[in-house]
Amino acid sequence: MEWVICIFFFLYGITFGSFFNVVGLRVPLKESIVKPPSHCTTCDRRLTLVDLFPVFSFVFLKGKCRGCGEKISMIYPLMELITGLLFVAAYLHFGFRLELAVALLFISMLVIVTVSDLKYMLIPNKILLPFGIAIFILRIFSPLTPWWDSIIGAAVGFGVLLLIAIVSNGGMGGGDIKLFLVIGLVLGITQTLFTLFLASLIGAIVGVIFLKRTKQGRKTPVPFGPSIAAAALIAYFYGAQLVEWYIGLLN
Ligand SMILES: [Zn+2]
Repeated sequence: MEWVICIFFFLYGITFGSFFNVVGLRVPLKESIVKPPSHCTTCDRRLTLVDLFPVFSFVFLKGKCRGCGEKISMIYPLMELITGLLFVAAYLHFGFRLELAVALLFISMLVIVTVSDLKYMLIPNKILLPFGIAIFILRIFSPLTPWWDSIIGAAVGFGVLLLIAIVSNGGMGGGDIKLFLVIGLVLGITQTLFTLFLASLIGAIVGVIFLKRTKQGRKTPVPFGPSIAAAALIAYFYGAQLVEWYIGLLN
């Protein structure tokens, strides 16, 4: 029975992931997320169910538009697949507890933020605000222990990032700062700080790989959002164990 539920969550996840791609691509441009219907950005051909089936369409169509043969970015099926896997992971981690709702919302927000930040280097308020409010309300009914950990976590997340932004003189985007407020609500103080540590680590590694690949001496800005998203999810699922392990190393 368990695996049937897992498949259900996976299919749910990849379908939502497909929708999150659309949201992440259109909201920053202030476009409607329902109109116009999905179309190829090169030849304008309207996409049908055959083109739109999450992950499978990409594999079946070998990553090309059926109309003009233009290559479709790997990012989109990848985000669908990641969403599917994360939805399954959330279910396996929390079961049918209320925290599962927090997890699914958190994952959804982070996937949209990743798509948007990768494409436009932008994390829109229009994404952070509704998710932030929904998560805040859920945190009342599914609190951290102690309950105020999420409030202080949000304040610390926001405050520390703001401080970094001021000290680094614009090295941190406004979207990143607000994103950390929501992360604080979900994770509490300790894991929010751990997320920052981990995100910097991932960001540095990504930065090195990216700079090597472009072989450019000058600074090319790399969006920090995806690193934050990955770090936040690692902290959410495994943070407690990782922090414990790290403290064990010090002793
Ligand atoms: Zn096309």
